Amino acid sequence: MACPPLDTKRDLFSRSEVVRVFSALSVELGIPAPAIHWSERSRNGRYHVVGGVVVLGPNVWRRWHCALHEFAHHVTYFVARDAPSHGRVFREALEMVASMALGDAARYAWVSEYRSIAMHGRRRGLVR
Ligand SMILES: [Zn+2]
Repeated sequence: MACPPLDTKRDLFSRSEVVRVFSALSVELGIPAPAIHWSERSRNGRYHVVGGVVVLGPNVWRRWHCALHEFAHHVTYFVARDAPSHGRVFREALEMVASMALGDAARYAWVSEYRSIAMHGRRRGLVR
């Protein structure tokens, strides 16, 4: 990203910051930015293909990591619209998004991911 890499421990996790990061990533990738539905009640992120909506909120588990995971679903939709939810295309999109946003894909929380995604991180040497 043109801006400094995201620091998932220090950078404020707010709607406006998520909008800023998603916009920067989208511009760099040449895709429209997803819409963001910010919900206090949401504990898990979600991506709705229809309308390209990412659901997040101040209480989602893994916060920035969750946001990057959902953004990777958005990217996957543009790369291969029928790709399986957490399949190879998604995992590669997540690695690219993590690298772009965090400056190093190894800074992504691979170990707290779904098993197949955590395995991707390990295979790629991204778990330290
Ligand atoms: Zn997912």
